[in-house]
Amino acid sequence: MTSPPPITWIRKDYHVHESHSSDAPGASVEKYCRVAERRGIDEIAFTSHFIISGPDWDFGLRPHQIQGYLEEIERVQETTEVVLRRGIEVDYFPVEERVLEGIIDDHEFDFVLGSLHYIRGIDVGSSRDSPRFFTGRPLEESLNIYFDGWREAVESGLFDAMAHPDYFRKYLHLTRAEPATWEEYGTTVYEALDSLRSHGVGVEVNTSGLRHGLGDIYPVKGFLEAAREAGVDRVTVGSDCHSVDDLGLETQRALRRVENAGYGHLCIYEGRKNRKFRLSDVVMREPRQL
Ligand SMILES: [Zn+2]
Ligand SMILES: [Zn+2]
Repeated sequence: MTSPPPITWIRKDYHVHESHSSDAPGASVEKYCRVAERRGIDEIAFTSHFIISGPDWDFGLRPHQIQGYLEEIERVQETTEVVLRRGIEVDYFPVEERVLEGIIDDHEFDFVLGSLHYIRGIDVGSSRDSPRFFTGRPLEESLNIYFDGWREAVESGLFDAMAHPDYFRKYLHLTRAEPATWEEYGTTVYEALDSLRSHGVGVEVNTSGLRHGLGDIYPVKGFLEAAREAGVDRVTVGSDCHSVDDLGLETQRALRRVENAGYGHLCIYEGRKNRKFRLSDVVMREPRQL
């Protein structure tokens, strides 16, 4: 009888929401640290939400809270060997680009993660709104609009990496029964991938799709393979956890996707500069006690 392969986790979680994100109540920087120590995770990038406008403007950090949030991370850093990165997940709104630039430039971040939860005023991550984005036109047409917005976000120059690249899948099942296949992702996705390469922006592999009931992670394999073929060489992995229990979870799935797409490394960020680590240096077998 063959024994099951050892569980393999990534030691670095580059998408972590603490309690400044209102969907992560009680998840303090301090608590995450203690869990990371127990689990053998050696690096966390905190990425609290920053949503500058729209109906969810008060969902995450407000501009005046950012400095205190960064100082809290620095304070907890004094108490632990786990490397803590000062990051933020910023929603891209084209009309707010210059304001966002000012706010980002005013603070000392290690990692600025860009997001596209809202496209043309529709929140594709909301069960109520998502069908409005897809109904009444072929999927490819919707996705051409989606990835056009994504490319604009990349070209803004505001971000180090882009989060959950095909996040639109979260509630797609409300509009159609079959999941989207890579072949349906449209044509603008290739322009978006070229922009990632030419602007030196990274792509994130995000395991939250498993918690969203997708039975899969973001992005689909075809997307990541196309990214590698387009010359995108910066990849991060994040759980997108909103509770300490989910820190680092399911990263074995991310690891397999990264490897299968042909990548041999992951990136970390310090002071917004990226550094590559071989996969063999960032994974651990048989994670410690949960
Ligand atoms: Zn997000
Ligand atoms: Zn997030």
